Amino acid sequence: MIIIKFGGTSVGDADRVANAIDIVAERQGRQPIVVVSALAGVTNDLVAASEAARESDIERVNSIIAKVRQRHEDVAMRLVQQKYDFFESFIKQLDRQIEQIHTILKGIALLGEITPRAKDKVSAIGEKLSSVLFAYSMMMRAVPGEHVDSEEVVITDDRFGEASPLMEETRTAAQRVLLPLIERKLIPVMGGFIGRTRDGATTTLGRGGSDYSAAIVGAAIGAEEIQIWTDVDGMMTCDPRLIPGARVIDRISYVEAAELAWFGAKVLHPKTIAPAVAQKIPVRVLNTHNVASPGTLVTEQGDDRDHGPRAIALKRNISVVQMTSSQMLGAHGFLARLFAVFEELEISVDLITTSEVSVSVTIDEKHDMDELVEELRPIAEVEVLDGQCIIAVVGRHLMKDAEVGARVFHAMRGIEMSMFSLGTSGLNLSIVVDDADADRAVRAVHQALFEVPVEVA
Ligand code: ADP
Ligand code: ASP
Ligand code: MG
Repeated sequence: MIIIKFGGTSVGDADRVANAIDIVAERQGRQPIVVVSALAGVTNDLVAASEAARESDIERVNSIIAKVRQRHEDVAMRLVQQKYDFFESFIKQLDRQIEQIHTILKGIALLGEITPRAKDKVSAIGEKLSSVLFAYSMMMRAVPGEHVDSEEVVITDDRFGEASPLMEETRTAAQRVLLPLIERKLIPVMGGFIGRTRDGATTTLGRGGSDYSAAIVGAAIGAEEIQIWTDVDGMMTCDPRLIPGARVIDRISYVEAAELAWFGAKVLHPKTIAPAVAQKIPVRVLNTHNVASPGTLVTEQGDDRDHGPRAIALKRNISVVQMTSSQMLGAHGFLARLFAVFEELEISVDLITTSEVSVSVTIDEKHDMDELVEELRPIAEVEVLDGQCIIAVVGRHLMKDAEVGARVFHAMRGIEMSMFSLGTSGLNLSIVVDDADADRAVRAVHQALFEVPVEVA
């Protein structure tokens, strides 16, 4: 069994859906389970509709939802129309879902506020529609697809908007729902991104979470491979939108891929790797627009080189929090008190550097800085630097060769750094710079590490 997951751009319009179905058909012998994202841009539209409802802007809500509805009808029109009863039945399902969204959005507009639970219910519609549409389109093309409701398969906790799977329950549900279909030679098709709590409320797994769904389902049924089909040739030495000359990485280890995803390489959802690692299932990143390309294989061992840089990721919207106190000199328990504040406010820290009397950390800018500063003030003097970004060079044993650091420092001449950190694991060498310098810094570091002959690798 394999998991085949298609991202939003891979199912963005009728031609792409048809292409994706061909990909599935060619892999029929490997007992695939298909996981699809919402059509490109639809989740953004749904989030925007929730916001518009909160502002009681009914006109905008109606126009966004009408657009979402039309996009699905257009794709169905192209792919399913030859068989009128299929088309009619799809349109009926589409209208039922659209009616449901309108009811929820009306409720939001009436209250003038949106709960995370209601927001998930609205955001989940994108994958519900795309998966039904994909299954119908498969049947039209004589590929035996069978729609499966992801809420029947992925059981999660109730952290709406960022839910995590309850793996034991998910395993039982996935095996009960999916295996009988596979035995009957049917190809289950389900939406990514969505789950439900034990008591039946719809949840979502975080933006970009369809990759995570693919890995969860793969782990739950013991798949032999999880394929993430996207719009680039694989994991690359940098986001090709930032560096057009970025190169494809043929093999990479789970830890490197996870680190890259965490530090902003959107090509994989940061949590994707965890369920795969737990069962050592290989993850392959492939390009729907270039099926011949071998893509990137993510496994426990990665490639044969035991050290050297593999890629650069850029994480924007970061703040640096600098905490200074003379009490820190030689005192014990000081760091524990500082970090207790972060723990209490549920703020996760990415990078840390320390000196005799000060500690600097990076956190996501989205947090309430006033509250954090208020809580930290009794312990230390606090300074917050907004508008920063982290450039993370990821690889294995980066400390083994001083050349990597030397090249990075050399490349960064003339660009001010607000933090620099090289973890003892040697997995990631990170630099924090002002957002305005991000592009220039990424280009310089990429060139120094990947575009000149690299003896460091
Ligand atoms: P999907 O809709 O298929 O889930 P995403 O947009 O979430 O696709 O992820 C694919 C995008 O990730 C690519 O178009 C690319 O711009 C971006 N990306 C960021 N970092 C990397 C990287 N290191 N390698 C490849 N792609 C990357
Ligand atoms: N549709 C969801 C999003 O846009 C999940 C995904 O595409 O992976 O965030
Ligand atoms: Mg994605």
